[in-house]
Amino acid sequence: AFIAVEGVDGSGKSGVVRALVAGLQARGLDVLGTREPGGTPQGEALRGLLLAGADEAWEPRAELLLMTAARVQHIARVVLPAVAAGRIVVSDRYAGSTLAYQGAGRGMDAGLIRDLHAAMVDDVWPDLTLVLDIDPAVGLARSRKRLADGGIDEGRFESLALPFHQRIRASFLAQAVAAPERHAVIDASGTPEAVRAAALAAVEAALKI
Ligand code: C5P
Repeated sequence: AFIAVEGVDGSGKSGVVRALVAGLQARGLDVLGTREPGGTPQGEALRGLLLAGADEAWEPRAELLLMTAARVQHIARVVLPAVAAGRIVVSDRYAGSTLAYQGAGRGMDAGLIRDLHAAMVDDVWPDLTLVLDIDPAVGLARSRKRLADGGIDEGRFESLALPFHQRIRASFLAQAVAAPERHAVIDASGTPEAVRAAALAAVEAALKI
């Protein structure tokens, strides 16, 4: 099975991915945790390029193509082989983030993004996408606190205005409404423990385990 975890910056995705991997492994399942952009040596190198420099260092079209290139590597070399081997793959972000950030955020046409996804990634979508939903103002405050506490700065967009992040949140929610059979929206405003427990419960329900 293929599971993606999506959400605005500071929604707690990374912790949820770790908790899902640990929780599913504890049930004796073979689980692989991975991330986008990244998840392969080439994808991680592209991640470095994409996240380096200023918020708007990349032209939206170039950004879309590099995100897609990283995804092609990831899906072909890591995700699909693992799923074929019977493993559960849990990815921190996937194509929903491209619709949200490059689409709703950067203004690239959603139809073009979907067509590109169909052509380049064979229209592979996760069996389940968890949308960690939180007010982006709260998420950004969390990210800033993590940075102040000495965390690594990987977010590019923390300096962008709130309306940008609100478009990202709205896009994830709209994606969930458009395909409810393969999405679960999780309230991410609670404690980390509560959010992780809700995420694990949603995965267990979807996978019927
Ligand atoms: O997943 P993570 O939050 O670490 O992503 C790193 C940065 O890349 C974030 O600021 C995120 O908003 C951004 N990003 C993006 N477009 C994507 C995926 C991530 O702008 N498709």
